[in-house]
Amino acid sequence: MSLNYPLIFKPTFRDYIWGGRRLGTVLGKPIPEDGIFAESWEVVDHGEDQSVVANGPEAGKTLGELVQQFPQDLFGVKAPTETFPLLFKFLDANRDLSIQVHPNDAQGAQLDPPDLGKTEAWYILDAQPGAKVYVGLKEGVTREDLAQAVEQDTVIETMHVLQPQAGDCLFIPANTVHALGKGLLVAEIQQASNTTFRLYDWGRVGADGKPRALHIEQSLDTIDYDKGPVQPQTPQATSDPEIERLVTCDKFVLDRWEFDDRKSIGDEKRFHIVAVLEGKVRSSHAHLDQALGKGSTFLVPAACGPLSLRALEPTVLLDMYLP
Ligand SMILES: [Zn+2]
Repeated sequence: MSLNYPLIFKPTFRDYIWGGRRLGTVLGKPIPEDGIFAESWEVVDHGEDQSVVANGPEAGKTLGELVQQFPQDLFGVKAPTETFPLLFKFLDANRDLSIQVHPNDAQGAQLDPPDLGKTEAWYILDAQPGAKVYVGLKEGVTREDLAQAVEQDTVIETMHVLQPQAGDCLFIPANTVHALGKGLLVAEIQQASNTTFRLYDWGRVGADGKPRALHIEQSLDTIDYDKGPVQPQTPQATSDPEIERLVTCDKFVLDRWEFDDRKSIGDEKRFHIVAVLEGKVRSSHAHLDQALGKGSTFLVPAACGPLSLRALEPTVLLDMYLP
């Protein structure tokens, strides 16, 4: 038995208060008819949160089970980890998210229960006019300044604000204070962690009518005050003119592909998470013999090797993998 075919998973949805309907209307996700949905978790192995395989011989298994059963097939030459190290999701920010910060790995290890740190990157799929991101502190803001801003309810004035466009990528290393603003539809690749310290929640209440918990001291302790403002990533050329590198860091690599003919994705050395953002591709693999349109995500294990794709329309996709 080996894990040698591209995997698609059943997405799971989060109905956080800031969500909307675009996961269904724009990305074709099967969200329930009623209610608002903030996140579609596409690839996850984090405690109870598990992607479940939807195709092929391993259908019904969780990603966590695959990591245990097929570490070599999944990871290739990369050292397998106890759990799948990356998490990929789509987010529909219909309201502003809380101003927040995530720990790094060393800080996450001290938590009870321990968690990974969370370095993340956002790829903006759609931005309504005027939509903002809050990314890093303004130059020179110190811990004392920020603590005072919390007291005086002026946290927003300390934040670096940008109006991103569709196609922009923002790289948010652990310890960088940040928030997505309303009007953004985003693809996010991150470490498989779910630890968030909320610094500021716009003075609003949660679904139960009470303010959501804030973690002001932990936030102030976790923020990197030397980091300063975050600017959109400048895409870097690669040896393939159809592939641009948006992020490379010690946690993951994020590439953007644009093509309109045939192309192979994946390799025998590591797994690749692939998300189709525009257009449509077709795989002719026996276990994934279908057209994959906007919002489709699949995982190519190392043992699957390069997967041949044919673009049915001009296609943009994200390719995410371990460095
Ligand atoms: Zn975050």
